[in-house]
Amino acid sequence: MRADLHTHTIYSFDGRPEATVDAMCRSAIDKGLTHLAITDHCDINGELEGIYPILDKEAVFAAISAAKKAYAGQLHILFGVELGQATQYPKEARALLERYPYDIVLGSLHNLAKTPDFYYMSRPDGEIPAMQLSDMSDDGINALFDRVLRESMDLLDFEGIHVLTHLTYMHRYVRRIGREMDFSLFEDQLKALFFKMIEKGVALELNTSTLDREGITMPTAGILALYRRCGGRLVSVASDAHHPDRIAQHFDTAAEILTACGFTELAVPTANGILTFQIDS
Ligand SMILES: [Zn+2]
Ligand SMILES: [Zn+2]
Repeated sequence: MRADLHTHTIYSFDGRPEATVDAMCRSAIDKGLTHLAITDHCDINGELEGIYPILDKEAVFAAISAAKKAYAGQLHILFGVELGQATQYPKEARALLERYPYDIVLGSLHNLAKTPDFYYMSRPDGEIPAMQLSDMSDDGINALFDRVLRESMDLLDFEGIHVLTHLTYMHRYVRRIGREMDFSLFEDQLKALFFKMIEKGVALELNTSTLDREGITMPTAGILALYRRCGGRLVSVASDAHHPDRIAQHFDTAAEILTACGFTELAVPTANGILTFQIDS
């Protein structure tokens, strides 16, 4: 798979210092990619409520515009954004999408409405100690995933999202505290979500960033297989790299999973139409 469609640079608050736009592009070329989407974080609620540092949107736009020129003929660079929690501030999220000519918009849910980022819910020493996954029963954790699915359904009503990223983001943090989730409990809701994604033309992303530490992909292979059985054909792949060395990491595993689910190609909607990539190349 010669595309990595979700990566971060120094412009993301959690981007590593090595992750300059140049370094990310050079790494993508070194790894034989033809397409790289740079999708720095804009957690719209977090910016407005002062929870996350603000993305320097002008700076990243300028840097990616320059890189598109510098790497023309070597690498197709997609100027993207990982837009977090769009439905919590739809007016401001809409204004962002109207202001910049994004090639690809990832719809992301790092926190539920009026609830901390799942990251903080796995860290007793976190800045927001109010809700801890480790204090919750399985029912409590399942109730959170029920909310994830409901808010993901709402996110699909926000026009302009091309890809639903890391649908099972909370799974990462549940694994970090040594617990597991049973997604079979959510089959009906997942199916409803997938039918709506298909209707809206939104792709499901396979995110490999959690293979090293948590030993899972987001979502799991089982969920991807269900999506495929529901008729889902738009599928993307992402390292979610925050460092140049991690670009396209574990894409061999991703290819195996996608092939086993019956996918033969990636098909990724963008502002300029659907891009396709063979999985076995
Ligand atoms: Zn994310
Ligand atoms: Zn990301």
